[in-house]
Amino acid sequence: MTTYTADLQELLQCPLVDCGETLYMPTTLDCGHTVCKSHVKDQNCPVPTCAEELLNEQIVPRPLRIQIPSGSRVDFDPMPPEPQTSHFDGPEEPKLNKILVEILAFLDEQDDIGDALKPKTIFSSQLRAKLTCQICRELLYNPITTPCQHTFCARCLRRHLFNGNSCARGCRSRFGGFAFWEEHPIDSLIQNLLLNFFADESAQRAQASITMDQDDFTPLFIVSLVLPGQECGFQIFEPRYRTMLRRCLEHHHKPQSTSGFPTMGLMMHTAAYSTTAQYGCIVDILEVQMMYDGRAILQVRGTTPFRVLEDTGSRDGYSVARVELLHDMPPPSRTSPTPRTRPRLYEPAERAHVRDLVQICVAFLSSLRRHGAPGQDVLDRIVRVYGAPPTNDPGLLSFWFARFLPVGDVEKAKMLAIRSPRDRLERVIHWISRVAGPEPE
Ligand SMILES: [Zn+2]
Ligand SMILES: [Zn+2]
Ligand SMILES: [Zn+2]
Ligand SMILES: [Zn+2]
Repeated sequence: MTTYTADLQELLQCPLVDCGETLYMPTTLDCGHTVCKSHVKDQNCPVPTCAEELLNEQIVPRPLRIQIPSGSRVDFDPMPPEPQTSHFDGPEEPKLNKILVEILAFLDEQDDIGDALKPKTIFSSQLRAKLTCQICRELLYNPITTPCQHTFCARCLRRHLFNGNSCARGCRSRFGGFAFWEEHPIDSLIQNLLLNFFADESAQRAQASITMDQDDFTPLFIVSLVLPGQECGFQIFEPRYRTMLRRCLEHHHKPQSTSGFPTMGLMMHTAAYSTTAQYGCIVDILEVQMMYDGRAILQVRGTTPFRVLEDTGSRDGYSVARVELLHDMPPPSRTSPTPRTRPRLYEPAERAHVRDLVQICVAFLSSLRRHGAPGQDVLDRIVRVYGAPPTNDPGLLSFWFARFLPVGDVEKAKMLAIRSPRDRLERVIHWISRVAGPEPE
């Protein structure tokens, strides 16, 4: 036998010392170990070191589990274990790993043909054909073998799982829920074959996978209006948004948050208004709670408005775009001194200094108290729901008012495009004047 055939044979040894033979009727267990079918007596893996290996994530990677980077400040609550489901069907006979059965047959052929007739390139291409993912048709990458003994790339399997809870090859046998797959280790034997015989290609695929996940585009969650300073909760259940969330959590997409939270872009769901279709708000992802049925519950906080520079289409079904962050412009320097008289409530305030505008806004809040108990009640409710007014930050104050003043979301979304706190406060004062009516004498 040539060395590569010998190498292959060595890799295909049964891991049980008592057996020590080339695998015979190999079956791959949920832990990622492959043994001869005859050793499997119950749902426990017969490999003595299995439990330790599973604890050591260096040895047994779980590519479907969301990996939160160490510096991330997101409060991440992983999926709880599924309520009591056994993935071993008791009396059902363990099935055989389809790929390994083919490779063992291939190994037998090698013995018969002999080394002179088999140049390495032919050997490689034949082996490669067997180590192909049945979904993407490429060389397997992070292979996961399902209980029905089909093997797919983790990424392909994940994408497939979004659309249903059964095997991509149409088998009807047991197939776990989301939590089962999140904890599912890779098929260690097939991984070994890939690393031994296709090291370069595997490394390329790893690199390509990282590049695909990390780029300059901002993922957009097109769902509703969020303004800077606003905290709100969402539930994510659509497959495409779960993929997006995973990438946001794992790779901290651009724009990278300075606060250490993963970020994404939020936009209103509207096609009718060109302004709102171009502007959105970057949010920090503060908290994520994963549910075992695949849903995710998020708590986010709006930070910086953005404008879509280039709509780069969709990635795995969700939108991405190149965006420009719209930080507030510095307040204009005061050129002509304006008289420091107390501004009248609701007067057109075009030239008024930002501080005066803030005072008008604050005066409106105080004016609510003049309406006695009902007014105080409204004010209390506003503070309870929206927090205390950020009066020391005119930029945020304008968004704070915008959140509860009774104007439509489309109008509010236009605030995202205005980079001058003064201009935004003027708009707020305009809205206030509509609410408040003429100033009481
Ligand atoms: Zn064995
Ligand atoms: Zn095991
Ligand atoms: Zn694949
Ligand atoms: Zn299957």
